[in-house]
Amino acid sequence: EVKRSGKNGYRFFSAIQSEQLLRQVKLENDLRSALSRQELSLYYQPIVEMHTGTIRGVEALLRWTHPEFGPIAPSVFVPLAEQTGIIIEIGEWVLEEACRQVRSWQLAGNPELTVAVNISIRQFNNAGFTTTVNRILKETGFDAALLELEVTESMMQNLNESMSILDELKRLGVKISIDDFGTGYSSLSVLRHLPVDYLKIDRSFTQELTTDTAAESIIKLIIDIGHTLNLEIICEGIEKEEELELLQQYGCRIGQGYYFYRPVSSEEMGLLLHRGTPA
Ligand code: C2E
Ligand code: MG
Ligand code: MG
Ligand code: MG
Repeated sequence: EVKRSGKNGYRFFSAIQSEQLLRQVKLENDLRSALSRQELSLYYQPIVEMHTGTIRGVEALLRWTHPEFGPIAPSVFVPLAEQTGIIIEIGEWVLEEACRQVRSWQLAGNPELTVAVNISIRQFNNAGFTTTVNRILKETGFDAALLELEVTESMMQNLNESMSILDELKRLGVKISIDDFGTGYSSLSVLRHLPVDYLKIDRSFTQELTTDTAAESIIKLIIDIGHTLNLEIICEGIEKEEELELLQQYGCRIGQGYYFYRPVSSEEMGLLLHRGTPA
């Protein structure tokens, strides 16, 4: 593809641009076979009760180790998977793998352990998504009440449709979280009517909590709104003790971040749970 620009008509890609494009096309292509070649895996990041440091659940985070390029960040390959539609297949694998793995940790002595799974917009809008979730719950014997599906505000743009999908999911008994909350567009009147259980405060606010008074106000506001609407608040990206202390003062009880734990492989997560030691 050649980009049109300026009055002379065409502007050709620079060497760097075409290199990037080539790499992108290659990644897109390789992503199609990543699943069958077992290049995808799940990492797990503990989600903790702030007061005690107890691990209440984990978030499943997708990892891709490319045979040539090594680890590729989800921020790079998830959008590619979205564009090509392969995210439907990958997302189904993620859900099944996460439920199967966390079920085994539940049986090994963590009966209440929850799992949070990121859902992409293509998956969410795909007809039969609820049926897929239901099938996976049945097949893995996973308790629906311990599954949290993470959606984002941007998925709620077609409000009536989104509401009916959320209602269907809620009827299965699963929990719904709004991920990256505060970065998208959602009015309070919309939020009030959404059948959701958790708001996850986006890391960009947490990052600036101790240095930017606007970020601090926004966090306080989200916590208050959440509590008013009977939603539980989960704060993402906690890296410092000072952040933890402020968040607790504001009434936030659940958190996630490098201060507690980084995302770890399933093997490491199994060991962490076995040791049962708080951060
Ligand atoms: P997210 O859902 O907001 O996940 C949290 C991200 O923040 C993860 O990045 C996690 O590693 C990172 N993180 C957690 N605590 C901290 C911290 O204290 N400091 C910093 N700097 N980062 C922290 P990750 O694993 O790179 O994932 C990025 C995004 O990719 C996720 O953001 C999610 O939107 C998407 N993603 C990951 N796995 C999946 C998946 O299975 N399906 C879909 N559709 N998207 C996924
Ligand atoms: Mg998430
Ligand atoms: Mg997410
Ligand atoms: Mg997030």
